[in-house]
Amino acid sequence: MIYFDNAATTKVNEEVLDSFNYVVKNYIGNSSSLHKEGLKASELEKKAREQIASFFKCNNEEVLFTSGATESNNLAIKGVAFRYKNRGNHIITTKIEHLSVLNTFRQLEKEFNFKVTYLDVDENGVVSVDELKKAITNETILVSIMVVNNEVGSIQPIEEIASLLKNYPQIHFHTDATQAIGKINIDYHDVSLITLSGHKINSFKFSGILIKRKDTDLMPLITGGGHQFNYRSGTTNVPMEVSLAKAIRLAFIHQKENYDYVKKLRDYFVEKMSSIAGVKFNSNDNCSPFIISFYTNKKASVVAEALSNKEIYVSTKSACSSKKESSSYVLLAMHKDSYVASNSIRVSFCKDNTFQEVDIFYQELKNILSTLK
Ligand code: PMP
Repeated sequence: MIYFDNAATTKVNEEVLDSFNYVVKNYIGNSSSLHKEGLKASELEKKAREQIASFFKCNNEEVLFTSGATESNNLAIKGVAFRYKNRGNHIITTKIEHLSVLNTFRQLEKEFNFKVTYLDVDENGVVSVDELKKAITNETILVSIMVVNNEVGSIQPIEEIASLLKNYPQIHFHTDATQAIGKINIDYHDVSLITLSGHKINSFKFSGILIKRKDTDLMPLITGGGHQFNYRSGTTNVPMEVSLAKAIRLAFIHQKENYDYVKKLRDYFVEKMSSIAGVKFNSNDNCSPFIISFYTNKKASVVAEALSNKEIYVSTKSACSSKKESSSYVLLAMHKDSYVASNSIRVSFCKDNTFQEVDIFYQELKNILSTLK
């Protein structure tokens, strides 16, 4: 099997799995219980939080555990929108966000009367900081712009945006860093809210984090017993939190070596694929090397199925939207035509992929393209 779909999800790391199993077996208490077993679990939870906080250079109370990036995005966006709606009703995002951001903005627009600006991107999938500046009004309370786009890997100028937004203290800046954490080096110092997901960094599905700086308040979406500083009620999942802390630590400490390796792999991939007639790239050299989008002269879903029959796994666009028939809204926003948008394949790498796998992929793709009608 060749797994080139690491932007959709990653394999759980053995060490991460070991810590999960250890905590499940040895810490049976509810972290809110006041007896010894509860306190033991709560101490461990505190340590996991501290470790995560140290990587984001924030306080423990700024780390909120969630069920994944979808929930973190919803909590950040709706949380700010509902909390600060008396200050203003204008919110800004881009046209290429993940659906967990885009559909949240659409819901706020349609059902809660917020005014939304959906910023355009250029042909490389990057927003203009000038356009963002022009879009800001006295009513703007939130800007949400992702770091790495999950379909093409384009990287947004997060640090530049954060520094612009420092001039507007009434605006909270959220970034969906799901495809960036442990992969791309970004300074999040001036970002108010950061989303990440466990299963993109070799931890479990249905686990995530929202980093929420203390100067940003949120309307909680899930109310109950007041867990997690009142921002996200529900009994916490200590084994999941500990394994996520481990996955984050591993991702951060190996980030540079993984990046360097994957960059070489990606460059080799581009070199090989460029020799196949009809193959062209949507991603460029400024994109994250972990994600590469290209198109062929055949329909993407047919090519992906033929590859899958050979046990080679890729996506046609992001996993969350690939079951829907329409072509990629991200590529259309990048001013690509519908031919490109419906013929594009996303390959996404991890450190475990090999040059040999690229060679096999190249051969199989070449065969498939020459035999498909
Ligand atoms: N944002 C981005 C950029 C993503 O790539 C994904 C996963 N495809 C999500 C959000 C949603 O993540 P989760 O599956 O953890 O809800």
